[in-house]
Amino acid sequence: MSNQHLGQIISGDIVVIGGGTAGIAFVASLLKREPGLNITVIEPSAQHYYQPAWTLVGGGAYELKSTVRPMSVVMPRRAHWLQAAVSHINPESRLLTLDDGRHVSYQNLIVCPGLRLAWEKIEGLQAAIGQYGVTSNYSYQHAAYTWQLVNGLRGGKAIFTQPAIPIKCAGAPQKALYLSCDHWLRQGVLKNLDVEFNLAGAALFGVATFVPPLMKYIEKYRARLAFNSTLVKVDGPSQTAWFSVKGAADEVTLQAKKFDFLHVVPPQVSPDFIRQSLLANAEGWCEVDPHSLQHVRYSEVFALGDVCSTSNAKTAAAVRKQVVVVAENLLALRKQQPFLLKYDGYGSCPLTVEKGKVILAEFGYAGKLLPTFPLDPTVARRLAWYLKASFLPWFYWNGMLKGREWLTRVSKVD
Ligand code: FAD
Repeated sequence: MSNQHLGQIISGDIVVIGGGTAGIAFVASLLKREPGLNITVIEPSAQHYYQPAWTLVGGGAYELKSTVRPMSVVMPRRAHWLQAAVSHINPESRLLTLDDGRHVSYQNLIVCPGLRLAWEKIEGLQAAIGQYGVTSNYSYQHAAYTWQLVNGLRGGKAIFTQPAIPIKCAGAPQKALYLSCDHWLRQGVLKNLDVEFNLAGAALFGVATFVPPLMKYIEKYRARLAFNSTLVKVDGPSQTAWFSVKGAADEVTLQAKKFDFLHVVPPQVSPDFIRQSLLANAEGWCEVDPHSLQHVRYSEVFALGDVCSTSNAKTAAAVRKQVVVVAENLLALRKQQPFLLKYDGYGSCPLTVEKGKVILAEFGYAGKLLPTFPLDPTVARRLAWYLKASFLPWFYWNGMLKGREWLTRVSKVD
């Protein structure tokens, strides 16, 4: 911590923690409604990432450099950007502490620092990743390495992993498998490969409707599913991975597996400064009402994005709808008016089952299907691939981050 700013207090009105998908889209939408608002965004990173395209980068279908832009370019001009990280929140005194020693006060707080990828929870992973055939599409640094490995592999054992949920875009671990297998199939080498998908949970996908069409692809690619199997340790030089496997009687055994290719999805947790704050629920997530996204104990606080305690799929698609609800509800609160909009848990997972085709899974709370288009959502379609690989990235930078609220129909409070 630098001593330079120690004790300095900055007074904010609307203060937003995080300038990721949720933070920037929310601020842009709010300023479209009321351009004169005094908004401060606290965000340490000089870069802003479009994470949903990392799956495509790992599948050789997208350029890595198109997934990142300078934060200064995406930050709405009328917002004040404090380039620092929040290290402590005191919601009782409405005061934040930054990692450079400054303090920020607020009238309203919008919490959207995303989640933390806990790479360290898998022993040996940090030393191994990026070499020895160990990779992850969950990291900007390694998504291109996935494609390098996939493109070079001619045979052997390929292992894909999925940790315990919640994780962001719960379909992304299997998207990596499908795109890799599709490439190996087209190259005629899939027959030389033993492909295994190790999932910490007991189901291929959380919404049952989508399991049968996904199983068809698992069968097409001759991949084996290993349920209740959690990656706990990796040794790069010997290309060995260890899994904690839960049996039928809940007995746990440790199984070692050799690999030539290992795609890892890290465990995912709430950021420490949220987990340790009075805003957290028992699991560490920011505890908001699932429909209003207002904090359950501190009415001047809202949250959106991956940090929320809500049970929706943690996706940018969810953020697209949450932004409208929080923007409207925050303005209503400030005018002492009732909330008019509610969030229905919408999230979307475009499952890239082959290069050129996507099963567009869109669903809300309790797995309720919420398709945007009047088409059977269980069918893999070229149109949905176009949406995922071309339209949505364009719309993200030119629409969502600029406060243009397309495809954001939300429910009214009953
Ligand atoms: P982020 O976008 O992660 O932003 C959080 C921001 O908070 C960051 O800029 C960070 O620097 C900042 N921050 C962190 N700590 C602090 C702090 N202490 N103080 C201040 N700021 C802080 N979504 C889809 O809709 N469709 C998909 O197909 C899809 N696929 C995905 C595939 C992969 C491989 C990954 C990784 C994600 C995918 N997602 C997808 C999920 C989507 O990217 C996230 O749900 C979305 O980015 C969440 O937005 P957020 O603002 O909550 O978090």
